[in-house]
Amino acid sequence: MALCDGERKTSRAACNGTLYKCSQCGNTGCQQTKADGCSKQAFSVLQRCAQCGAVAQREALSDLKTDRAPRKTPSLI
Ligand SMILES: [Zn+2]
Ligand SMILES: [Zn+2]
Repeated sequence: MALCDGERKTSRAACNGTLYKCSQCGNTGCQQTKADGCSKQAFSVLQRCAQCGAVAQREALSDLKTDRAPRKTPSLI
């Protein structure tokens, strides 16, 4: 299962949210209940794509393999 490797804007903790892909523009990222909730947020709570504005065009990435490098966690906060 693909998880978001972005960072929460408020706590700066790892997001680990479910990743979605916009079927309209291919934008990928997580969905947050608040705008600007994660550094890699792609969808608002209304399932609106942050890049192209399409609504309810997200697809879960759970079936797709992601090839991401392990993220370094900051030692100093
Ligand atoms: Zn995220
Ligand atoms: Zn889009």
